[in-house]
Parts: sequence; structure tokens; C-alpha cells
Amino acid sequence: MIKIGVLGAGGRMGQAIISEVQAEPDTRLAGGVERPGHPICGSVIGEGLVVCANAAPVAHKADVLIDFTSPSALDENLRAAMDGKAAIVIGTTGLGPDNQAAIDKAARSIPVLQAANTALGVTLLAELVEQAARALDTGWDIEIVELHHKHKVDAPSGTALYLGEAAARGRGKRLDELMIPPHTSTSGARRAGGIGFASLRGGSAAGEHKVILAGEGERLELGHVAESREIFARGAVKAARWLSSQKPGRYRMADIFGLKS
Ligand code: NAD
Repeated sequence: MIKIGVLGAGGRMGQAIISEVQAEPDTRLAGGVERPGHPICGSVIGEGLVVCANAAPVAHKADVLIDFTSPSALDENLRAAMDGKAAIVIGTTGLGPDNQAAIDKAARSIPVLQAANTALGVTLLAELVEQAARALDTGWDIEIVELHHKHKVDAPSGTALYLGEAAARGRGKRLDELMIPPHTSTSGARRAGGIGFASLRGGSAAGEHKVILAGEGERLELGHVAESREIFARGAVKAARWLSSQKPGRYRMADIFGLKS
């Protein structure tokens, strides 16, 4: 039985992950954590399990923590995981270079899997995008369009950036070398070989991504539609199950499926 602690237990993803952990026969909740003052703090989420505002005690009871919170919570969550010797799946998006450095450091002592998108379909989509970008020359412009619900705070989405990194890899570059700032009326003509992004926000959309490779007279479009956030929860729990038997190190969703890039 794999014991899982859920960080961000009162959030949209936290709630979906708790349901998934409870539904699976080989996983059980080790506890839930929320920010101090959140209305869910003190609520019972299982036998003898009360949501608390401190990750440390949950990390000591858990084999794996699943973190879908906010970038500002990451340092504390990593520290709790290291102190409790728990592995950690990080699904939070909007992470900056300092966050990535903190993850690298933690991965020296515990298994860490960070994924801007835990859906199987998106993991495979990134592979296809990389292949397409490698096969098509820079005469094919790459634009990434994403749509999310109106509450999402970061843009472009972590998934759009992840797909952009895959496209840049296909072109033998880093995304920061190819990323084009949002097009405006003063941008002028499009930069050849660059990768553009457009973010749409509205309603309750769980997440849609389309990677457009636009050539002269033809267009290739690769995309993914998340019909509900349960797919992310399912992927996060699958990641936790896999991570629980790994050595310390840094992992990606692609590693679970044995994908090479
Ligand atoms: P949300 O706002 O509904 O939930 C986040 C929760 O984290 C909130 O309840 C908040 O109070 C809590 N939180 C904040 N600081 C905390 C702390 N220090 N300790 C404990 N809890 C804390 O947002 P959401 O839609 O559930 O998304 C959460 C994150 O996951 C976002 O970054 C989002 O972009 C990302 N996300 C990732 C994937 C993926 O597949 N990787 C999928 C969906 C969302």
C-alpha cells in the first residue's frame, strides 16, 4: 500500500487527487495539507486524518507527497519531503529558475518528479511535437495556443511552455533562445524560426493546447483537450506510485512511460 500526502488539499486539483487516492486499491491517504486559514483546515478527510497547515507531520507518514499548490509554497514543501524522507510529485506550474534550482537540490536526496502536465496524452503530445519540429525546417512557424478556466493565474500555461521546450529541443535549441514575446500591433513581422504563444482564459475549461506548425500553403496541428481535471489527478497518482520505488533523482512523466526524450 502506497501512502500519499496531498499538498493543496482544498484546491481544485487537491480535491481531485484525494478522490483518486481513495478510489485506487493500492494507495491510501497519509494526510492533507492546506495553507493556514483555509476553510478546509481541521476537516476530516479519512479515518483519523484531519487537514493540517503543516506539511512536516504528513511527510513523515507518507511514502510520496503530491504538491499542486503555488510556487511560493515549494521551498517549504521540498524541505518537508526531505526531512520526512518522502518522494514528491510536483504538479504546481509557474515555477521560476530559483524553484527549478531548489528541485535539483532536493533531487540529490529524494526522488522528485516535476511535471507541468501529468496527463498521459500531453506526455505523448510533447514527443510528437519534438519529432515534428525536428523534421520540419524553420520555414515552418511554430505557434502554441492554450485555453484554460478563468481562475488560472499563470500564462502561458506550464504545459504550453513544456510543449515549447519540446519544440525547441526538436530544433536543437533552448526555448529561451526561440520564444517570441506576445504579438502586438507594434511587434512588426514575425521572427523566423521563433516559437510564439497565445493564452486564452475563460469559463471552466480544464485545459486545451494546440501546437500549430505553419508552413507555406499547409499547416500541421497537434493538440490535446483535457475534458476534466481527473486526468491530471490520475496521472499524478500514477506518477506517485512509480516514484515510490525510485532512487533519489529528478524524473519526468516521460520516464514513467519509458519515453527517451
Ligand atoms: P487551486 O487554487 O484550486 O489550488 C491550490 C491550493 O493550494 C489552494 O487551495 C491553496 O490554498 C493551496 N495552497 C497554497 N499555498 C499553500 C501552502 N503553502 N501549503 C498548502 N497549500 C497551499 O489551484 P489548482 O487548479 O488546484 O492548481 C494548483 C496548481 O497546479 C497550479 O499551479 C496549476 O497551474 C497546477 N496544475 C497542474 C496540472 C498538472 O497536470 N501538472 C494540472 C492542473 C493544474
